[in-house]
Amino acid sequence: MILRCRLCHAAIAAFDPADLTPPLTGAVFGPLEPGFPPPFDPEASFDDARCPFCRHHPQGYAPDSRDSLESDRGPLPVGQPAIRREAGKRTRKGGK
Ligand SMILES: [Zn+2]
Repeated sequence: MILRCRLCHAAIAAFDPADLTPPLTGAVFGPLEPGFPPPFDPEASFDDARCPFCRHHPQGYAPDSRDSLESDRGPLPVGQPAIRREAGKRTRKGGK
């Protein structure tokens, strides 16, 4: 799939949704075309990633923006770190 910048909507990187397990690093994202350098530092946290076009974080800066990525197929949820599961306590029995 293609990662798009939430702020400038440019296509930035190619990635496999199966790799979206926190903590995300630049290594999850490859170049749009084989043979080009990766768009982000593979060893850096995705928090440090910057859109090559507008120089902002590809997910934007809204408080809940880190819960999803913009892709060519629309918003894609990112797996939640353990600490975030606490916020959405499941109180219903038998709920999925
Ligand atoms: Zn951008």
